[in-house]
Amino acid sequence: MKIYKAHVLFTKEKDRFEVFENGYVAVEDGIVVGVASNLEDLNAQCPNFNVQSADVIDFGDKLMIPAMNDMHVHAPQVHNQGVAMDLELLPWLQNYTFPEESKYADVEYAERMYRRFLHTQWLFGTMRSVVFGTVHTESTRKLMQLYQEAGMGALVGKVAMNRNCPEALCEDVEAAVEGNEQLIAEFNKPDALVRPIITPRFVPSCTPELLKACGELAKKYQLPIQSHLSENTSEIAWVAELEPESKSYGDAYNRYGLFGQTPTIMAHCVWTRGNELELMKQNGVMVAHCPTSNFNLSSGMAPIRSLLDEGVRIGLGSDISGGHDLNMFRMLVYAIQVSKMHYQLDHSKPFLTLPEVFWIATKSAGSFFGKVGSFEPGYDFDALVIDDAVLYPAEYSLTHRLERYIYLGDDRQIVHRFCRGKEIKEPKV
Ligand SMILES: [Zn+2]
Repeated sequence: MKIYKAHVLFTKEKDRFEVFENGYVAVEDGIVVGVASNLEDLNAQCPNFNVQSADVIDFGDKLMIPAMNDMHVHAPQVHNQGVAMDLELLPWLQNYTFPEESKYADVEYAERMYRRFLHTQWLFGTMRSVVFGTVHTESTRKLMQLYQEAGMGALVGKVAMNRNCPEALCEDVEAAVEGNEQLIAEFNKPDALVRPIITPRFVPSCTPELLKACGELAKKYQLPIQSHLSENTSEIAWVAELEPESKSYGDAYNRYGLFGQTPTIMAHCVWTRGNELELMKQNGVMVAHCPTSNFNLSSGMAPIRSLLDEGVRIGLGSDISGGHDLNMFRMLVYAIQVSKMHYQLDHSKPFLTLPEVFWIATKSAGSFFGKVGSFEPGYDFDALVIDDAVLYPAEYSLTHRLERYIYLGDDRQIVHRFCRGKEIKEPKV
């Protein structure tokens, strides 16, 4: 057993921080077994362990918080990060994204870019991700191997697409199923940190046959599903044309077994309402809210306060390269700012608070991976240790220190990173 001592902050409930000043977290086999303000209380929580004789790793005046989870991100768009902000979604895909993803037929190029991507995620303390690869099986395998090497957790998708895209990214249904089954055979182990996720790009990229095959794969292997939903109004109109039988964009996925039949996460949901919202609630579909991407691609402002009040599950995503930033702490700030814009338009719903977005980013998002995102006993010990000495901590309360780190800090203040109890060292670029 290991015991870590620091100022411990996390969100068990969404409306407030749990704060343990000079607190202790006990970890056994990667799992939190106790959290307390002093060793006596910790001992009472861990009757099977001799807490007094365990080594205490003391981080002094530093903050310890759950690690970040990026719930929607495109690893192969790392080269386009911070460029190409002049178009909306559909022309942006054709002009910038598809040409870049076509390069991932070359596994060496893929490895060079994927190493950069993982290194940046590591820098910012993102220990779990839900990731799009490309259509290419070999490059997706390489991405999964790099995550395994790094020790960071990820659900990684080989992207399924076979229409409305360049020839180089079109894969027929049989090849898509075969490629997925190869990766499933290799990586779909119970409790593995890196696992496959079924990934139809979005309805306009997939024929009904391909969507059906994706639904069947998810069911057969009981795998989770990720895709995009109701991001942009032109996209929604296009889906209505392509799937005229469906009651909503969400229903188009639902008809193929891709909407909560196994755990499902959908990026954006900027325009989700009516039938689609009801289906999301019924089926427990999680939203990956990607505020920077929604700004950059002029998609709109996702109504997260309303979705939260409706009981929809929510996490946060960077969505590079629609989004420009892999620092998930920035996503917390932007999520609050988007909700303040909604508040300007409608004062009847309060804007999101810091504990709420912290809870969304950690415990709520983490529930997609299992017991992740909190320091309650039974949770995986995914943690960051923050040295905020440069931010004049002495004059602030612990929650204000965390707030200042979230608004003002960066990777330089993250001094330790843990994923399922293991300290994660800097991956090679
Ligand atoms: Zn996306």
